[in-house]
Amino acid sequence: MDYEQVLQEIQLEVSPLLNDGKVADYIPELAKIDKSNFGMHLLTLDEQNFAVGQSQVKFSIQSISKVFMLAMAVGECQYSVFDRVNVEPSGDPFNSLVQLEYESGIPRNPFINSGALVIADILLSEFSNPKKEFLQYIHRLTGVSSIDYNETVATSEKALGYKNAAMVNLMKSFGNIHNEVEDILDLYFHFCSIEMTCEELARAFRVFANHGRGVVDSYSYLSESQFKRIAAIMLTCGFYDEAGEFAFSVGLPGKSGVGGGIAAILPNKYSLVVWSPGLNNKGNSLAGMKALELFTTKTHTSIF
Ligand code: GLU
Repeated sequence: MDYEQVLQEIQLEVSPLLNDGKVADYIPELAKIDKSNFGMHLLTLDEQNFAVGQSQVKFSIQSISKVFMLAMAVGECQYSVFDRVNVEPSGDPFNSLVQLEYESGIPRNPFINSGALVIADILLSEFSNPKKEFLQYIHRLTGVSSIDYNETVATSEKALGYKNAAMVNLMKSFGNIHNEVEDILDLYFHFCSIEMTCEELARAFRVFANHGRGVVDSYSYLSESQFKRIAAIMLTCGFYDEAGEFAFSVGLPGKSGVGGGIAAILPNKYSLVVWSPGLNNKGNSLAGMKALELFTTKTHTSIF
């Protein structure tokens, strides 16, 4: 398969879509990002790299960090994490509050905001310096020690993060939040503000494509069982209320973020990352979704 050629074809085919999406302007710093950006990076398990476009430009990974948060929490606390957050698709927008009230403060899954806020609470309880240790975890996954938080983005989101604050308060009223609201929000906004390139994200997700194991030393970041469960949550809950559509049209486990990134894996084969900041009305990268659909169609690869 000539992956280089496939990526070039895709870049050409999605270029008319780059203008159709809308950048996430509810976070003022993200509203400044140029919609014409498009990058894609494929990393195969036999260590071949293929890329097109702005695959080396750092962007705000936003909710993609929820996968790393969950992996770190499960690595530390195993499945007790799921006493406080469920594993069902929500069918509601990523920042919705409604289910939380009638489901007694237990979020539907760890990849919507409420669920990730509970995971942030768990990390705050389990680690002495979770902000530092989370970055170190990502440095280990990628081998890139320059990856960092973007303080301006974190501050920008914090200034207007009323809904996330409402969620933490509501969950605290049900007893499902143990730390101080402000501390959880600060940690969560920092996790979302991490900036990475398509290539760096593909490197991090390679570990998931490799059943939780690293490259050179076969170091296990996750057990086989933990990997399977996290990949299952990516497939069923990784795309807000469009997880069904993503499984339907792309057919890979993955996770999107409102920065316009999408990371996906084909277990045993590859990790694949696309970045295009224009979002559709569900908050997923519009051209990015199409690019991944084209990729699995052209290469005849999906988990199905
Ligand atoms: N920081 C964003 C928020 O909490 C993340 C949303 C996302 O990427 O889905 O609204």
